[in-house]
Amino acid sequence: MTDLLNNIKLLSQNKIENKRVLLRVDFNVPLTENLEIADDVRIVKSIPTIQLLLKNNNKVILVSHLGRPKGRDTKLSLKPIADYLTKVFPQNTVPLVKDFQIPTQQSSDIILLENIRFYEGEDKNDEAFAKELANLADVYVNDAFGVSHRSAASVIGITKLLSSYCGLLLEQEIRAVEKIMENPKKPVVAIIGGAKISTKIILLEKLLDVIDTLILGGGLANTFLLAQGLDVGNSLVEKDQVNEAKHILSKAAEKNVTIVLPVDNTGLENKILDIGPKTQKVFAEIIEKANTIIWNGPVGYAEDERFAKGTQNIFTAITQNTHAFSLVGGGDTLASVSGNPDISKITHVSTGGGAMLELIEKGTLPGIEALKQKK
Ligand code: ADP
Ligand code: MG
Repeated sequence: MTDLLNNIKLLSQNKIENKRVLLRVDFNVPLTENLEIADDVRIVKSIPTIQLLLKNNNKVILVSHLGRPKGRDTKLSLKPIADYLTKVFPQNTVPLVKDFQIPTQQSSDIILLENIRFYEGEDKNDEAFAKELANLADVYVNDAFGVSHRSAASVIGITKLLSSYCGLLLEQEIRAVEKIMENPKKPVVAIIGGAKISTKIILLEKLLDVIDTLILGGGLANTFLLAQGLDVGNSLVEKDQVNEAKHILSKAAEKNVTIVLPVDNTGLENKILDIGPKTQKVFAEIIEKANTIIWNGPVGYAEDERFAKGTQNIFTAITQNTHAFSLVGGGDTLASVSGNPDISKITHVSTGGGAMLELIEKGTLPGIEALKQKK
């Protein structure tokens, strides 16, 4: 992963002026039934990039996807986002543009293209579709970390056609992961929860190279408990992953990484649904002493308030540690703590769930590689 940003033009260091800029953002925000934005963190985090481009007299054209539409789906229109941006940028107009019919654009207009996944060419990384996009602008900026692990026309194809830059948010996201994976300040603690170990084996293996302590919780920890011969009753468990859990346990011992598993739990009907009070205390004490923290995955069935206490406790422990560098990411992880004002006490909240995990696992992402300047 060394020097991931090498050979990439960074917007933070290269001024773009008086250009038409196609800015790929990740405005894939959760919406309520009434199509209101339920959590705006992804939009908020891209605003500095938009502001910088506007300040330098560029014409900004925003490209984003929302959800996974099959063709056009009015429920997945970017209209709520256009309305939101109109409030954030009262000096500007934010027209929502369908089918690339861009009106004559003033520098004060922020064009928002309609959901790019309404078009088949996006996910197929279709060349002709990428050209259609490229024709709208002079330069391209990627600020969409959350889709940089995908091969899409607005992430990959377009970089072959326009001079391409890494946006302010994408740069921050990459630097945050680098900070964990390259010479992090010890002790380094990872808290990994979530439902399944099978989706996180490679992540765990990679982390073992850099961390001192691995805290495990959630459904995933049950498989580890089973591997140690403990009874997990009716809990969520992956019986076919017991060998993988044993492999992680022995790898950890080899690398001198301490694995910490729950010592008590709460639940229903002989089912583990959250970590218990003793475990909360043990986990919090370890987190308190850490100098580097990475957290992914709720440590319980946090969608249900009754079983969200353990997860809230992890969040509180991380926010109370003011000396550590902390990185928190994951779709469900963010959902479980979003809206909490203390979220600003986390050094970096990643906007990319799958993208963050894949960056740790593979050391790079297709969208990052695509930004490298071709020689
Ligand atoms: P993220 O999206 O943050 O990467 P995951 O998708 O890996 O997180 O895991 C989140 C899911 O794990 C949530 O739906 C949560 O309810 C579930 N989960 C965590 N602990 C348990 C448990 N003990 N029993 C059942 N489900 C659990
Ligand atoms: Mg998830």
